[in-house]
Amino acid sequence: MSSKVLSHLQDNNAHDETVAFISKTLQMYIDGKWINAQNDARIQAYDPCFNSEITSFPSASNTDLDNAVCAARRTFDSNEWSNMLPLQREQLMHRLANLIEEKADVLAEIEALDAGKAISGCREVDIAGSIDVLRYFAGWPSKIEGSVRPVSIPGQHIAMAVKEPVGVVGAIVPWNWPFNMMIWKFAAAIAAGCTLVLKPAQQTSLSAIYFAQLVEQAGFPAGVFNLVTGKGSTIGNKMVAHPLISKVSFTGSTEVGRQVGAMASSNLAHVTLELGGKSPMVVFGDADIERVVNATQQSVFFNSGQVCSAGSRMYVHNSIYEEVVEAIAAKTKEMKVGLSLDSTTDMGPIISSSQHASIMDYISIGQREGARLVCGGKSVGDDGFFIQPTVFADCTNTMRIVREEIFGPVLAIQPFETEEQAIQLANDNEYGLAASVFTKDTSRAWRCVKQIKAGTVWINTHDLVDPCLPFGGFKNSGLGKDLGPEQLEQFLQTKTIWQEL
Ligand code: NAP
Ligand code: MG
Repeated sequence: MSSKVLSHLQDNNAHDETVAFISKTLQMYIDGKWINAQNDARIQAYDPCFNSEITSFPSASNTDLDNAVCAARRTFDSNEWSNMLPLQREQLMHRLANLIEEKADVLAEIEALDAGKAISGCREVDIAGSIDVLRYFAGWPSKIEGSVRPVSIPGQHIAMAVKEPVGVVGAIVPWNWPFNMMIWKFAAAIAAGCTLVLKPAQQTSLSAIYFAQLVEQAGFPAGVFNLVTGKGSTIGNKMVAHPLISKVSFTGSTEVGRQVGAMASSNLAHVTLELGGKSPMVVFGDADIERVVNATQQSVFFNSGQVCSAGSRMYVHNSIYEEVVEAIAAKTKEMKVGLSLDSTTDMGPIISSSQHASIMDYISIGQREGARLVCGGKSVGDDGFFIQPTVFADCTNTMRIVREEIFGPVLAIQPFETEEQAIQLANDNEYGLAASVFTKDTSRAWRCVKQIKAGTVWINTHDLVDPCLPFGGFKNSGLGKDLGPEQLEQFLQTKTIWQEL
């Protein structure tokens, strides 16, 4: 651990357990055992506040990945897992949720440090939200039902359709919500009775390693959850194409998602893809402006804008356009950009130097394209990867800052005149993950909901998520859903059973 990381932890009164965890030699968790990578290859973990080394963890080889998938398959086929009673599985999941809750502060610190997330949001959203998801899915194992069907074949038959777990799940998650996305995959897969192999993002693997300790402590049989840390381009790729993987559940970029989808399909594996977005916020002339302004703090600046459903392009009715732009700029200027472990920080750093460079590049592109920079636009400090929350006005749908996913704290605003035009502008994008509409006119809100092509539409808010509601994109934002019964269904397959009497 570098001295900068140590003082980041100490100055912000991090728990001794957080420091102790980071100081250990971290390993992968495969088949119930803690192991190093074959050849002892390792990857460094960095604190994006200082671009400074936190620790290192194993960089798995193809053999390690193969061992993990085979362990998950053996366990899936074993009586210990397949005969576990639904209520016992629920109990295990609840026990794990309780352990996460006990260690919530430590987990939040590990996640904030490794991913650069502001600690307050990390506690309230990443960790607390994950516990909710685990508890929601922990209620499902005893409620997965089949049905008897009224067949019309002459003679006497009993015929039914029942649900079975799909098999071994290969889960791949990104760096922007490392713990959360891992729990989304884990909870639904386990509730369905699957086993899984999970690969976290290279930049953010620490909370997954801590989580594996809790899985072991909760008493899950060996091989149910296997954690393989390493590179997406090698072992991620290998996992997706592995013949013993029955289901691939991927969250990440649209570009990689396309390749993952193609590989999984060629193997005839089931596949769910949660991909990128460029979600519109449509603000009508009768909108509550304070609500709109407050929503932007969550919708586009939360997690430094590194949110797939970020409301990163906004369309505002001409009648209130300047007033909204000014109010958003005033509120945005008050945001505190700071160290991730400081509880007064609103916005931490960007995850990496390449992501920082890409966002700064988009900010210059926006200026060159003729958008009006209303606030922000600068990199902050010499250490680390901080960027000011940035607002552009007078944008158009032809600009790259409006069309492309920036994945940073950049909002692009433009005016509109009619409802029809607002809907056309909102739909004019390759993505369709989410959208929001701000108006006091309920009929108008519902007309918009019906016409906007997005997997989630919020009215007078942006970015609410709940375990009982499916989350996932239309168009190039993905395939299938996470959360809700819809996600559970995707980890199940249907068996038809006939008996002739
Ligand atoms: P990414 O580059 O696609 O990486 C995502 C994951 O895929 C990482 O674990 C990565 O591993 C792995 N990976 C990379 N190449 C691979 C390959 N060829 N085969 C298999 N796995 C591979 O995405 P990112 O830049 O980390 O994340 C940001 C993106 O995720 C954004 O586009 C965002 O919108 C999207 N996202 C979507 C949702 C949603 O629910 N729709 C939620 C969060 C984020 P390495 O880290 O080792 O490269
Ligand atoms: Mg890191």
